[in-house]
Amino acid sequence: MFVDSHCHLDFPELAAQLPEILERMRGNHVAQALCVSVNLPDWPRLMELVRGHDNLWASVGVHPDYEDTPDPTVEQLVELAATPKVVAIGETGLDYYRLTGDLTWQRDRFRNHIRAARRTGKPLIIHTRSAAEDTLRIMEEEGAAEVGGVMHCFTESQAVADAAIAMNFHISFSGIVTFKNARELQEVARNIPLDQILIETDSPYLAPVPHRGKLNDPSKVIHVAEKIADLRGITVEAVAEASTKNFFNLFKDIQR
Ligand SMILES: [Zn+2]
Ligand SMILES: [Zn+2]
Repeated sequence: MFVDSHCHLDFPELAAQLPEILERMRGNHVAQALCVSVNLPDWPRLMELVRGHDNLWASVGVHPDYEDTPDPTVEQLVELAATPKVVAIGETGLDYYRLTGDLTWQRDRFRNHIRAARRTGKPLIIHTRSAAEDTLRIMEEEGAAEVGGVMHCFTESQAVADAAIAMNFHISFSGIVTFKNARELQEVARNIPLDQILIETDSPYLAPVPHRGKLNDPSKVIHVAEKIADLRGITVEAVAEASTKNFFNLFKDIQR
């Protein structure tokens, strides 16, 4: 059994073909998927989608790339996180790649998500791009280790992975690990303790090889597992079993 720890099934390009995607998930033994929130205006749409399906779950949060969108208060996040089927806070974090200039607002928003996670006891889904140093510093300053969570779509160094693991975070690999030019990341995927690994698609983006460049969906998470198994010289079943177990341990509000 496989699980997709991070996808965006409510995005229109995927929502439009949901029955086919759910069918493909069944065919590939992808049993569960966590549908991750990116902003509050679209959040009702996300909740409607997960409420209709026993094997879909949600988070609540505002992505760092969404600049012109209402910023949630800690209280608001805490309140929304109490909604049934919400199992995590995020995605949140820092992205200095997509946006530049004074990003104080991004750091403030990130801090509020960590505070809300600590208030609710729910784990964090963290996005970091070209901002690893500040991301780790803010995690440290805000006590993110108390709730832990996942560094999603991981593309950073072994040192960053080690620092996140020391703060009680899992490392989640996406289709990027299957790309030919991802040598350094493949080395990280070889070295991370198996009990800290999660797998994800981040669909509709980042389709793994052999589907690179096409529309991604949660059924394709099996290719991420296959690549990690290949890199580590273990069976895909072993990767599936460990990443699924880690997923249920971390997102403890998910009922199987
Ligand atoms: Zn992300
Ligand atoms: Zn995402």
